[in-house]
Amino acid sequence: MNKNSFQLTESFAMELDKADVLNKYRDEFYLQPNSIYMDGNSLGLISKRAEKTLLESIEDWKTLGIDGWLEGKHPWFYLSERLGSLTAPLVGALTEEVIVTGSTTVNLHQLVATFYQPKGKRTKILADELNFPSDIYALQSQLKLKGYDPNEHLVRVESRDGRLIEEDDIIAAMSDEIALIILPTVLYRSGQLLDMERLTKEAHDRGILIGFDGCHSVGAIPHELSKWGVDFAYWCNYKYLNSGPGGVASLYVNKKHFNQVPGLTGWFGSSKDKQFDMEHIFTPAEHAGAFQIGTPHVFSTAPLLGSLEIFTEATIDKVREKSLYSTAYMMYLMESELAGLGFEIGNPRDDVRRGGHVCLEHKEAARICKALKANGVIPDFRSPNIIRLAPIALYNTYHDVWKVIQILKRIMNDKEYEKFENKRGVVA
Ligand SMILES: *Cc1c(COP(=O)(O)O)cnc(C)c1O
Repeated sequence: MNKNSFQLTESFAMELDKADVLNKYRDEFYLQPNSIYMDGNSLGLISKRAEKTLLESIEDWKTLGIDGWLEGKHPWFYLSERLGSLTAPLVGALTEEVIVTGSTTVNLHQLVATFYQPKGKRTKILADELNFPSDIYALQSQLKLKGYDPNEHLVRVESRDGRLIEEDDIIAAMSDEIALIILPTVLYRSGQLLDMERLTKEAHDRGILIGFDGCHSVGAIPHELSKWGVDFAYWCNYKYLNSGPGGVASLYVNKKHFNQVPGLTGWFGSSKDKQFDMEHIFTPAEHAGAFQIGTPHVFSTAPLLGSLEIFTEATIDKVREKSLYSTAYMMYLMESELAGLGFEIGNPRDDVRRGGHVCLEHKEAARICKALKANGVIPDFRSPNIIRLAPIALYNTYHDVWKVIQILKRIMNDKEYEKFENKRGVVA
């Protein structure tokens, strides 16, 4: 597919949809009539298959009670491991390197509690000043737990322009005082994709461990975590992986660290055949499963089974290909149709540097988002000036993209957005 051949017409959008090999998955999702959902990077939509595996688990509870743990259609006792193995291909990991457990922030706590081992001069954690706040809060509290002052021991790489973090700047900050590096794979505001392979190599050359927050890349972008030698990673499954609000998260631990005792231990991290011996000596599982803490949240996990089936069939490479093409198409339309209306595109243009959403900036962003919603478009606002728009490969069409830009253009030209207050709501 050639990005130089984009056209402005509606019929061109419809032709793209006709040629789209992923188009058939759209019918598997619950889409609302007269609504265009562009917020799948915040909360993915429910598919019929995700609903089915959730309902099957509820049915198992109804009919089997406690026996659902071992005898259900999707035995709960092995659910986290099974889902880990189904997720592994999406991140380029070995089956036993991924486990579905906890929440993003809790998993970060677990991994930092395990892999942050200050020694001698190496006492600092390196992060970036644009990361998601929860990650920063977790790092600050982990430093405090070890008796360090976060003001001194949490180093945040600065952005040159408020949008992007340059890999060169991160590498320059990898001093011999850094014990651990935590970075996002894709920055949640600008959508910049970091070069994980390069950063991992540079960190390891300096004897530093490195972990990534994959919330904004897993399910949108292929990864090669094992090949790159990334030490660990963690991500939520409710954004691009469509597992539902508050859906259980995931973590990845490189096989070379399987001998590492988790920082936060609990009985669900036990070797499965030892767990019910009920001994007071912990025998960890010999894989990423060791990093689980308590009983899995079955109903917040079960939808992921159905959802991952779709990804397995569709393949992450095709998902990425369509995502790149539809965001490129969206940017093309923005530049032609929204020219002179005060917008700026804040994400990198290069395919190797951008994630799954377009970051559209405008000083009236809050009320433009409200006007979009009033017109049936669901965007996502990030204070103070960002409109995030994510055409999702599995359920958005090129026609959706075309319509969103037409609506945006009309809202601006008619000044319809001025009817709304330029203030954010409670969520987003
Ligand atoms: C969505 C997101 C989170 C959310 O963390 P939860 O513990 O699931 O609430 C954390 N970090 C990043 C980068 C995110 O995008």
